[in-house]
Amino acid sequence: MSLRLAVDLVPDRIWYANLRRAVPREMWDRLRHRVYDAAGHRCQACGARGILYCHERWTYYDNIGVARLRGLLALCAACHAVCHLGAWRIGVMRTLPGFEPGAHWCKVNGLDRAAWERHEAAAWATWERRGRRAWRVDLGRWAESVPAERRRGRWLLPEDEWSDGGPGRPARKEADDDQGESSADDGGPRPGPGGGGRVRAGGLGPSGGLDGPG
Ligand SMILES: [Zn+2]
Repeated sequence: MSLRLAVDLVPDRIWYANLRRAVPREMWDRLRHRVYDAAGHRCQACGARGILYCHERWTYYDNIGVARLRGLLALCAACHAVCHLGAWRIGVMRTLPGFEPGAHWCKVNGLDRAAWERHEAAAWATWERRGRRAWRVDLGRWAESVPAERRRGRWLLPEDEWSDGGPGRPARKEADDDQGESSADDGGPRPGPGGGGRVRAGGLGPSGGLDGPG
């Protein structure tokens, strides 16, 4: 079944390995604004106008442990929060107060609550399974956009292979400061200061109230 909007959870260990963090800020801004322009400044899942986020869509090759970037999508805050449901649950995604991801997913896909519950359960099961293995990150056709000095080492390594604390995680305040322009923001989940909001696989499950990132 092809969905307009799907939960798209990032495996735990490569939560911070993504294009947004691999390229310099100005380059990311250029890339994402190109995506917004191509989308006609509308959310590519639900068609909403307003502030857009550039969502990195990854394919996970479970047999070989490769995560490959396959596309960039312009998404509204609500659709972006559904994609990164885990990050939204721990409070690092911006959405309207009272936002209910299941209701939004049902509306966008024209499906009912039971379908959402099946979809969400399947997404968490996949996330847990993927969290048990190592992943190599492949930026696909965007790899050449990454400056040579960032193509190796910590920028694209799983977090537990960083030797020096990693590529400068944004503090929550800094992330909030991004807000304010139209189509202001960017891609992936927004970790809190020091990654403190992060919950590892094997912690609380989907019904435990506080979920892992994604
Ligand atoms: Zn949307």
